[in-house]
Amino acid sequence: EAKLQGRNIWQCYTGQISAPTLEHISLRREMFEAIEEQQFVVYYQPLVDARTGEVRSLEALIRWHHPERGMVPPNDFIPLAEHTGQIISIDQWVLRQACLDTVAMNASRPHAQSVAVAVNISPIHFRRAGFVNEVQQVLAESGLAPYLLELEVTEGVLMSGADTVIKQLDALRHYGVRVAIDDFGTGFSSLSYLRQLPINKVKLDRCFIEGIDHQRDSAAIVQGVITMAHNLGLQVVAEGVEAHAEWEDLTRRGCDFLQGYLFSRPVPLIDVMALPNRLPV
Ligand code: C2E
Ligand code: MG
Ligand code: MG
Ligand code: MG
Repeated sequence: EAKLQGRNIWQCYTGQISAPTLEHISLRREMFEAIEEQQFVVYYQPLVDARTGEVRSLEALIRWHHPERGMVPPNDFIPLAEHTGQIISIDQWVLRQACLDTVAMNASRPHAQSVAVAVNISPIHFRRAGFVNEVQQVLAESGLAPYLLELEVTEGVLMSGADTVIKQLDALRHYGVRVAIDDFGTGFSSLSYLRQLPINKVKLDRCFIEGIDHQRDSAAIVQGVITMAHNLGLQVVAEGVEAHAEWEDLTRRGCDFLQGYLFSRPVPLIDVMALPNRLPV
């Protein structure tokens, strides 16, 4: 839910982590076990071409099938994993799995256009020295073409340690890996700042899409981002598209890619492999 706070700061709900509690202490231990015991699974949600409905890429979204707690959503453990540093091994596991799965996915549909995969990378992981080498290694091991990998980072990554981040982005671009700014509009970066960065895409946060048909300011933000992004040579993705009217509105406004429950929820690999190349809505 988006609220206009103060003058011009949009606030969208984000998971937050407070003082350590007993709950966190046990979750921390359980996250260590989760990788060992293969409790994590990667689900995939398609991103479609706004004009044709064709599936162009898949976003990898982690799921934790906890033996006692059941399904733990990422917003309930990613912030803690970032706090404890465990996010690095979690992200590394997801990256590797997503590349392997995408190679399998494309091999299973030799006559269709290859789909790309988008992997979320935590800022603390992205900023680490050696991150780009790690990505190169995973690509080499999995056999995924670099241009089929897209990394999603939030605006937050850009705001601190700009020099390191620009170096990482340049190295990724040199290697052919694509980068998208996730949850765009919820942080403090402006499009004019993005102009200086070698990135490919912005993903408009879901909170702007929710209001597009009844809140004039949401619609204005969406239109402004699309227009400016295109002028800077960037593509635009809308997240959280749930209604047909939103799809039409976004397409009319020139949005390039759409993602949301209207097309598909995030699903296991086997189910995403069974989806048609073009999604009916
Ligand atoms: P995100 O990267 O912005 O991912 C989009 C989120 O929106 C996903 O939530 C997705 O299931 C949800 N979503 C997609 N379409 C719709 C829709 O039409 N309606 C609604 N209501 N929701 C929709 P999910 O899977 O719970 O993930 C939440 C966040 O957790 C992600 O936000 C991302 O920031 C983080 N995350 C997930 N997997 C990973 C991972 O492997 N590594 C890292 N570092 N973060 C991850
Ligand atoms: Mg994402
Ligand atoms: Mg997002
Ligand atoms: Mg998000």
